[in-house]
Amino acid sequence: LLFCCLISVSQAEYLKYKDPTRSLNLRIKDLLKRMTLEEKIGQMVQIERSIATPQVMKKYFIGSVLSGGGSVPETKASAETWIKMVNGIQNGSLSTRLGIPMFYGIDAVHGHNNVYKATIFPHNVGLGVTRDPMLIKKIGDATALEVRATGIQYVFAPCIAVCRDPRWGRCYESYSEDPKIVKAMTEIIPGLQGDISGDSRKGVPYVAGKNKVAACAKHYVGDGGTSKGINENNTLISYRELLNIHMPAYHDSIVKGVSTVMVSYSSWNGKKMHANHFLVTDYLKNKLKFRGFVISDWLGIDRITSPPHSNYSYSIQAGVGAGIDMIMVPFNFTEFIDVLTYQVKNNIIPESRIDDAVKRILRVKFVMGLFENPLADPSLVNQLGSEEHRQLARDAVRKSIVLLKNGKSAKQPLLPLPKKAANILVAGSHADNLGYQCGGWTITWQGLGGNNLTVGTTILDAVKQTMDPATKVFYKENPDSTFVKSNNFSYAIVIVGEPPYAETFGDSLNLTIAEPGPSTITNVCESIQCVLVLITGRPVVIQPYLSKIDALVAAWLPGTEGQGVADLLFGDYGFTGKLARTWFKTVDQLPMNVGDKYYDPLFPFGFGLSTNPNKHQNNI
Ligand code: BGC
Repeated sequence: LLFCCLISVSQAEYLKYKDPTRSLNLRIKDLLKRMTLEEKIGQMVQIERSIATPQVMKKYFIGSVLSGGGSVPETKASAETWIKMVNGIQNGSLSTRLGIPMFYGIDAVHGHNNVYKATIFPHNVGLGVTRDPMLIKKIGDATALEVRATGIQYVFAPCIAVCRDPRWGRCYESYSEDPKIVKAMTEIIPGLQGDISGDSRKGVPYVAGKNKVAACAKHYVGDGGTSKGINENNTLISYRELLNIHMPAYHDSIVKGVSTVMVSYSSWNGKKMHANHFLVTDYLKNKLKFRGFVISDWLGIDRITSPPHSNYSYSIQAGVGAGIDMIMVPFNFTEFIDVLTYQVKNNIIPESRIDDAVKRILRVKFVMGLFENPLADPSLVNQLGSEEHRQLARDAVRKSIVLLKNGKSAKQPLLPLPKKAANILVAGSHADNLGYQCGGWTITWQGLGGNNLTVGTTILDAVKQTMDPATKVFYKENPDSTFVKSNNFSYAIVIVGEPPYAETFGDSLNLTIAEPGPSTITNVCESIQCVLVLITGRPVVIQPYLSKIDALVAAWLPGTEGQGVADLLFGDYGFTGKLARTWFKTVDQLPMNVGDKYYDPLFPFGFGLSTNPNKHQNNI
């Protein structure tokens, strides 16, 4: 037996690329030279998980898979179910001639948000308020562990858009209107991927092993600067402004070893970013020396031509030619493969461009140890929604909230609220709604209402848990004023805001509070003392209500740990948050950003009252 095995070992070909003791460049070179054109083009394709059978992976040499929006194996799937699915797909890839592992990408943009029971952190609009890069880094650490707990190795985060206009439906995915804050928040990258600091290599992707994930800085570049905040629109600004406002966070991401960059659907001065050779190849790859790979957005290449897909062959030529390495196809992949193969065979696209793309993709796969550890580590499943991560999220909630008004005058503050009172009223559409407080990109793409969608604490539950047991907490979603007046409430907490939304569905020209929020505010706050808590993805029209309310709290989209809101309302922790966005008076003023010449906001950038000055920390 021994004899037979010795022979088979010695007969097996020694493959340099499979040897982790060899240098990165040598492994890439060795593997690339063994690959056929078909295998190379397959590496560049990312398909949706619902069509990614092991057979498809094997037949087409597919390089990557994604969960688009909220695409899950089944409703409320457990970590084990996810692992089974991801490993199944992976086994398809490993059974190919060269055995190149695929990697799986997902939108983990505020925690592992598509997955039931995961910890949902505040959306970036709240995290920017904290101005606390170390906290953001820890959120990156926790998110990486939760993502790995489901066998997934790649996240489409962070969004480093600098949202300059709150009418944009993705404004809540942006940390701030201020490039400095966004830049500082790229500290999430060493959290997600591992810390490369001290390493002088420039632009090389870095992922420190199997508790970490590859990150993706998105959407390159100028996504937050489109006219009127219209999603995927045109960003009409000078090159100087593009570099000063929208580019700095990319510089930092690259220094921190970000593995991938996603291109924006938007245009810059009329040119689609997906076809912008100057910004993708000349600037990002050549000038900034980014050595990871560039990924398209979902159907981003199709949208180079209008209507989308109308001239697919031109779109592919322009997109791949501009320097996009991996293409989120995500369904029509055989057509993509056929067209690109034809173009390479006919010298419309040089094979050297394909080689550049494949080298970059392989580099990330080698760097993250995928060849050595292609399958999920089942020992991580308990990381999903762990108590430690929930505590971290609760802490992030406390630091992300801004107190905008406290009492009719500074001498008579209403907050912190007393825990002991005869009876109090909690009202509003957002008081007892976990889905609303998580916002878009939670379980589904657009987000959902309701408490059943995942595990967490609503603000109403948190208030009840925090109050003295002798205090009666009444809850009514939209009470009329007679009810409010006739119950001798000590005070009321009104929680209203925006419904969940994502991308274009969130574009809004009027930025109002959702119905019946305005009448809830009027019915309650004109009758008794009230604190108004806003659950919104951005500043909204609030000026008309200001004189009616006694206190105003901007809680943004806090996520599953509603307890963090109650911690502040009742004074267990002090308010420390300072606005990372300008709060406008009327939408007619938009866009309005800090530093503007005739700046005339309702609450300026940086504003925020404090209930415990000693606890304030501002690390930027
Ligand atoms: C969004 C991206 C996202 C991708 C994959 C697109 O519609 O613009 O931010 O990563 O979908 O879900």
